[in-house]
Amino acid sequence: MPSLLDEKVSPIYQEVLARNPGETEFHQAAREVLESLGPVLVKHPEFAQHKIIERICEPERQIIFRVPWRDDKGEVQINRGFRVEFNSALGPYKGGLRFHPSVYLGIIKFLGFEQIFKNALTGLPIGGGKGGSDFDPKGKSDDEVMSFCQSFMTELYRHIGEHTDVPAGDIGVGGREIGYMFGQYKRITNRWEAGVLTGKGLDWGGSLVRTEATGYGAVFFVDEMLKARKDTFEGKICSVSGSGNVAIYTTEKIHQLGGKVVTCSDSNGYIYDEKGIDLALMQQLKEVERRRIKDYTQYRKHAKYIAKGNIWEVPCQVAMPSATQNEINGADAAMLVKNGCIAVGEGANMPTTPEGVKVFLEAQIAYGPGKAANAGGVATSALEMQQNAERNSWTFDHTEKRLQEIMRNIHELCYETSIEYGTPGNYVNGANIAGFIRVAKAMVAFGVV
Ligand code: NDP
Repeated sequence: MPSLLDEKVSPIYQEVLARNPGETEFHQAAREVLESLGPVLVKHPEFAQHKIIERICEPERQIIFRVPWRDDKGEVQINRGFRVEFNSALGPYKGGLRFHPSVYLGIIKFLGFEQIFKNALTGLPIGGGKGGSDFDPKGKSDDEVMSFCQSFMTELYRHIGEHTDVPAGDIGVGGREIGYMFGQYKRITNRWEAGVLTGKGLDWGGSLVRTEATGYGAVFFVDEMLKARKDTFEGKICSVSGSGNVAIYTTEKIHQLGGKVVTCSDSNGYIYDEKGIDLALMQQLKEVERRRIKDYTQYRKHAKYIAKGNIWEVPCQVAMPSATQNEINGADAAMLVKNGCIAVGEGANMPTTPEGVKVFLEAQIAYGPGKAANAGGVATSALEMQQNAERNSWTFDHTEKRLQEIMRNIHELCYETSIEYGTPGNYVNGANIAGFIRVAKAMVAFGVV
């Protein structure tokens, strides 16, 4: 991978910086993709002629809105809502909603930008978008979460629809929040329109495997990377960060494939359980009781809780960051490699800083970037949309097989593309280039729109 931006691409990146001041996460995500694209412009001069990169870096539409709601004390609270509809060349905008106090436009734009290429890699007809709010669901009652979700949807509903824009979950948005938002959408529009949101409950239009899909898919992707190196998960010590949706189902699938996950975490600290994480306990604490991960040691006395510790200091052979962006820096990456890590699969979006990515690529370990490795979530959302369109529901086994097949195809596409562009085994280049080309071809076909 060229470490510097190609001379044709560099001015485009400078323009991104100038037009989007202060949006550091968006700059990071854009730079990472742009670094891969120099050789693409040599093979496809038509993309430069049609200014495809410049157009891809500019969202088609950005919506920012006020979200007023009342808390349990009767006080009015005000949050800010976002939906960035980034690119609809391949299908309706598709991407999750994040509710977290750190959310601002730069976070939503980085996520929406990555989503364009991720969605293209799935081979399914979905464009890229992302949304969310600086609302923090942590510590709020169900009534407060409902009140917020209803207010959020009271503005969002006019911008979304099954053929326009189809949101889903992300950090802080799970089945409960999707339920409240679907209910409000239905009430306002007087339409029972299943295809407008994904991640729905199984009794009202949801798909089996959607809950598990991002974690399972990330493990399938790592399994493919290991197979390409004639290796498997069997007996591997694995480190997973986070304790939310992605972390839980990453842990479950690794255990099913014979690996042992020894960590989980939240923003306060991490658990080290040398006997292997007790998944049923983790699910009870996090999914049912919504407690903090610290409480794990009340039930597994041998396990250790390290407050504010660095989870990546735990030696492992496979690391699967599944919490949030920039959770592995250059020093963490170097420590992982030094301690014997041979594969990294990103369940989270952009969890590794550019310095960390450089360490993994230089060490030539199997490194699966988020936009390839965690595409199973959105792919299964697209399968949910297919089931909604045909008013059908598929079995767990059938849907999981489809997911596995999609992840295998994404791996192959990234791998083959990395070879075609002279960087064999570099999945960063493979994912960026393969995803970009698919979107770019459609944009050229559509003319200047
Ligand atoms: P959840 O809200 O279910 O869980 C998030 C987990 O990450 C929690 O353990 C949370 O801890 C931790 N976390 C969140 N923010 C921070 C932070 N700033 N610092 C440290 N820890 C943090 O979210 P998901 O599991 O759905 O999402 C995890 C990652 O996976 C995100 O990067 C998301 O974008 C990505 N992803 C999710 C998909 C999905 O289908 N859900 C699809 C593709 C990618 P705490 O409770 O302390 O905040």
